[in-house]
Amino acid sequence: MSKLTLPLARRETLPNVTADTTKTKEIWDNIRLHRDKVSWHKVIWFPLHIPKLSIISWMAILDHLPTRDRLIRMRIITDSLCILCNEDPESRNHLFVDCIYATSLWNSIMNLSSMRYTHRSWESRIEWATQTWKGKSLLSIILRIAWTAFIYFIWEERNRRLFNRGSRTADQLLTYEALQSAGYLARLFLNTVDNPLQWLEECLLVLGLERFATLKPPSVGVVKLNFDGSLDPTTGSTTVGIIA
Ligand SMILES: [Zn+2]
Repeated sequence: MSKLTLPLARRETLPNVTADTTKTKEIWDNIRLHRDKVSWHKVIWFPLHIPKLSIISWMAILDHLPTRDRLIRMRIITDSLCILCNEDPESRNHLFVDCIYATSLWNSIMNLSSMRYTHRSWESRIEWATQTWKGKSLLSIILRIAWTAFIYFIWEERNRRLFNRGSRTADQLLTYEALQSAGYLARLFLNTVDNPLQWLEECLLVLGLERFATLKPPSVGVVKLNFDGSLDPTTGSTTVGIIA
């Protein structure tokens, strides 16, 4: 029987795995390269993040997506034009900040969030997000999901056009993205929220809506009567309620 020769990397990692190593985390800590944390890591890796959105956003921050400026430097293609606007050369910064398509979509997302602040460069947007989107509040989680979804769907739209799979306007993409995020939040509500009532109240606050209506008790010595009624036009049935 011939002797099995392991590749170099494999031979280097095996001695780190002993009979005492029982946890995957210990193995990973042994074989990985330890580096300082980057300042922006919580913008994409946060509680309840959506992996496919975070991975594309992570590659965008590292500028490792195969944008046309990189493909030209690698001598793979010669056409540099952005396929979303057909006006300027495609690069990471153009695709996600400077392109009129991306600007329109991002401004719409900011308007939905009642936030008007705009950023002139990719770097300032990342710095702003790093400083602003901290903690585990629902608002910061929703904004990080919105931003990573923005990056993901811009990249998906760019690839859809590049490989002739049709195109969508920024408004159509916004509807799609909002639906995706809404679907995700709905799943959170059903599966992971310990206190659904509090979660729903926080959602309403984020959306700028009123909290649930509550009946305030009257002052001492005052009798308060609340009347309400309903009519079902299809059956003609009526209901009246009185609370004293
Ligand atoms: Zn463009």
